[in-house]
Amino acid sequence: MLVNSKQLLDIAKKRKFAIPAPDFIDLDSARVFVDVAQENNVPIILSFAQSHSQMISLEEAALIGKFLAEKCSVPIGLHLDHGEDFDFIKRAIELGFTSVMIDASMKSFEENIAITKKVVSFAHSNGVSVEAELGHVGAGENYENHDSCDSIYTSPSDVVEFVSQTNIDSLAISIGTAHGVYKATPKINFDRLHEIDQLTTIPLVLHGGSSSGDQNLEKCALNGIAKINIFTDIINNAFDEIQKTKPINYFELKKSANIGMQKMLDHYVKLFHTQPIDI
Ligand SMILES: [Zn+2]
Repeated sequence: MLVNSKQLLDIAKKRKFAIPAPDFIDLDSARVFVDVAQENNVPIILSFAQSHSQMISLEEAALIGKFLAEKCSVPIGLHLDHGEDFDFIKRAIELGFTSVMIDASMKSFEENIAITKKVVSFAHSNGVSVEAELGHVGAGENYENHDSCDSIYTSPSDVVEFVSQTNIDSLAISIGTAHGVYKATPKINFDRLHEIDQLTTIPLVLHGGSSSGDQNLEKCALNGIAKINIFTDIINNAFDEIQKTKPINYFELKKSANIGMQKMLDHYVKLFHTQPIDI
């Protein structure tokens, strides 16, 4: 069933587990993700990133997401990942997404607050919840170690002011992960996570989950992170499965890709200790 992501994240935060948030890029990936949720009897946050709107439009993503979420029995949040501008986010809300992210993490603290407030005001008046990012989760390809990466750690001293001024529902923080594939295994700053977790009651979100190391991710899931974004590992596993099974036609190729995605998300559902939620 389609639900507001806030309900799910608040429960995950309280019960100390994380909900996977995989990005779908077509009907197949979305269907695979919802099937994994259904089979494990757990919620997921079905996500669509603005940067993927070259592959499928926002309108298509909304139709696919709502259709699949509504016809399954487990709770599914339909989330706009990395919303970059107000107009796009507004359209997502009007099309039925149940949560949105405004990513103004590269802007100044003041600008981040201003645009986030504007999104929150529109989203909340439509019953939609909002995630914003403080600090910046950079790209894994730039990752040799944290000092050379373009990520910027979330500063705990900013958290309380940012949350109270913006009235957001969840906060994406930067504690050592990066997007995409890493050059080296990341070091997660668990002290920073603990510190931030003590400062706010809203659920915390980890971006750049892929290839961050199973031990790291499990520890995050059990220590205050309520949502973990996963994309690269899922897509890469689809391709690995295709290479392994050497499909002989397009039907077989799609089947292999789907199996690859299914296996990876299934792995993360178990690793994150994602539990059933009754709504
Ligand atoms: Zn991200």
